[in-house]
Amino acid sequence: MKKIQMVDLQSQYFKIKNEVDNAVLNVMESAQFVNGPEVKLFQKELEDYLDVKHMIPCANGTDALQIALMALGLQEGDEVITADFTFAATVEVIHLLKLKAVLVDVDYDTFTIDPEKIRQAITPKTKAIIPVHLFGQCTNMEEILKIAKEHNLYVVEDNAQAIGAEFTFSDGTVKKAGTMGTIGTTSFFPSKNLGCYGDGGAIFTNDDELDYKIRGIVNHGMYKRYYHDEVGVNSRLDSIQAAVLRRKLPFLNQYNDARRKAADYYDSAFSGHPNMLIPKRYAQSTHVFHQYTLRILNGKRNELQEFLTSKEIPAMIYYPVALRKQKAYFQDSKDADFINTDKLLDEVISLPMHTELDAEQLKYITESVLEFMNK
Ligand SMILES: *Cc1c(COP(=O)(O)O)cnc(C)c1O
Repeated sequence: MKKIQMVDLQSQYFKIKNEVDNAVLNVMESAQFVNGPEVKLFQKELEDYLDVKHMIPCANGTDALQIALMALGLQEGDEVITADFTFAATVEVIHLLKLKAVLVDVDYDTFTIDPEKIRQAITPKTKAIIPVHLFGQCTNMEEILKIAKEHNLYVVEDNAQAIGAEFTFSDGTVKKAGTMGTIGTTSFFPSKNLGCYGDGGAIFTNDDELDYKIRGIVNHGMYKRYYHDEVGVNSRLDSIQAAVLRRKLPFLNQYNDARRKAADYYDSAFSGHPNMLIPKRYAQSTHVFHQYTLRILNGKRNELQEFLTSKEIPAMIYYPVALRKQKAYFQDSKDADFINTDKLLDEVISLPMHTELDAEQLKYITESVLEFMNK
C-alpha cells in the first residue's frame, strides 16, 4: 500500500507533470516573472469559473484578508465579528489593523459561525462580519447576508477552504463560495483545494470601486505610477504560481469530486456509530471537503490519534485551541457563551483527505478507526 499522507501533493503533481512543467518553463523563457500574461489569464479564468466580476491576485490568503479589511476603510477600534473556532489568520489581520475582533461561537454540526451569535454580538461599533467557510462547506450565508443588510455591515468571506463550493439561496439562486459577500478571499497554499507550488492568494468582489481600491492597495497604494495616495502593501501572485494554477483550475471540480468520494466512503463506514459523528452536510451548501472532520464522543479523541499514528495513519486536530484563549488574541469572555467551540476542541479529528486516496488506503484507514472505536 502507498504510504498514507494527510495530503498527497506529489501523486497529484505526477498526473499533470507534463503540462505544469512546460508552463513553468515557458514562464522562465519569457522572463515575465511578475504580472506576466499567465497572471492575467489566470485572473480571467478564475473570474469565469466563480462567476465573479473581479479577482485581484495577491501573495497569500492572509494578505488577502488584510487587504480586504484595508479596502473597507475601517477605523481603529471598529468591531469585526468572526468565529472563535478557525485558523488564526482571520483574527490575526483584524488585530494587525488595530480593529477589535469580536469572537463568537460556532454551530456544533457545521463548524461554522452561528448567525444567532452574530446577532447577539452586534454593537454600534460593529462594521463587518468575517464568516469562514470552514473545512469546505459554506457558512449559512443567507442568514448572514440578512443580518448584514439589517445592520448595514460589510461581509468578508474567508474562502481559503471552500473554493468551488456552491450555496443555494431559498429563492433558488446559486452562488459560489467567496462571491456572495462584499469581498471574498482565498489562499492557494499547496494543501488547499486549489493549491499552487508555493504561496498565493486572491481577493474577489463584484463592486467596481472596491476592485479599483484593492488593486491600488496591493501595489503600495499606487493608483498612478509613483503617486502614493494611501498606505498600501506589496502583495503579488507571481507568474510561475499563476502558470501552475492555470493548469490545475480545469481539474478543480474533478479534485473536489474526488474529495467528496473519499468523504462518502468515510461516511458510509462511520455513520450511525454510537461514539462518532460524521461531518454534517448542510442542505444549502455543497461540501468540497477541505478536511474530513469527525467528532469523537467517548472522550478518547487523543488516544484515537495516537492509535492511528501507531498504524502510520496521520490524523490532525484542526483546531486544538480556541482563538479567544490564544495569548495574542485573548478575549475576556464567558466560557458559557462558547459551548460548541469548547466541545469541538476536545472532539474533532481530521482524517487524511486529498484527491489521491485509493480504495486500499480508504479501507485501511476506516478499518483502523473502527478497530479502535469498537474496542
Ligand atoms: C489557509 C488559511 C488562511 C491563510 O492562507 P495563507 O495563504 O496560508 O496565508 C486563512 N484562513 C483560513 C481559514 C485558512 O485555512
